[in-house]
Amino acid sequence: MGTVVDAAAKKEANGSLADLNPTVVFVLGGPGSGKGTQCANIVQHFGYTHLSAGDLLRAEIKSGSENGTMISNMIKEGKIVPSEVTIKLLQRAMLEGGNDKFLIDGFPRNEENRAAFEDVTKIEPSFVLFFDCSEEEMERRLLGRNQGREDDNIETIRKRFKVFLESSLPVIEYYNSKGKVRKIDAGRPVEEVYESVKAIFAPKNEKLTKCPFSLSLMLTFSVCRLINCCKCVQDFRSYVY
Ligand code: UDP
Ligand code: MG
Repeated sequence: MGTVVDAAAKKEANGSLADLNPTVVFVLGGPGSGKGTQCANIVQHFGYTHLSAGDLLRAEIKSGSENGTMISNMIKEGKIVPSEVTIKLLQRAMLEGGNDKFLIDGFPRNEENRAAFEDVTKIEPSFVLFFDCSEEEMERRLLGRNQGREDDNIETIRKRFKVFLESSLPVIEYYNSKGKVRKIDAGRPVEEVYESVKAIFAPKNEKLTKCPFSLSLMLTFSVCRLINCCKCVQDFRSYVY
């Protein structure tokens, strides 16, 4: 690791990410646990930008990048792509995302991913959303979803489950020991799971009563929208949706 050029590139990327100082939520859970589906809901109602590490890697393959073949082979085997590749893609996406709130879905997948991300970006997640789901249910969903993914076949699915248990669960345990994990029972229908997700992103009454403009919901919304008080606008949205 670490030529002078690498270090300069790292510093530059860090500089601007540090300026951005983004809020990051890691969204973790086994393959087929519903991370992508629920992230789409969160984006609609809570103003986050969704970054799926797997989607970024698949886009990198399509772009014809020099790493494409390596990434493609790793995904077919259900293996974890080297941290530096994934982190670079995430950094770039955050800088280009035009937002300062990100859901990072499907990353970090192992301890090395986690430590390297914190080391390079200096970002600690606000919390980790963990979709807890049985293998039986995840397998049923993956085999049923037919998104044309080369890794949604039974052999690769079994490998992905193994990697999740051996490498990704320890990351969740690490954040759990820091009190940062919000666990969701993800084996239920999409709408029910989203009810639990919503409760995590919109702890309602507490913030509304603290707001100096919270005379009424309508007044809160108008005033806060005028002064761009995102917290209150989001709280309001959480009432409406
Ligand atoms: N992957 C990876 N690093 C990441 C995210 C994804 O190496 O940070 C690879 C890995 O091979 C994984 C595949 O991309 O099995 C698909 O990941 P995705 O998150 O899209 O799907 P999931 O397995 O969570 O359904
Ligand atoms: Mg996904």
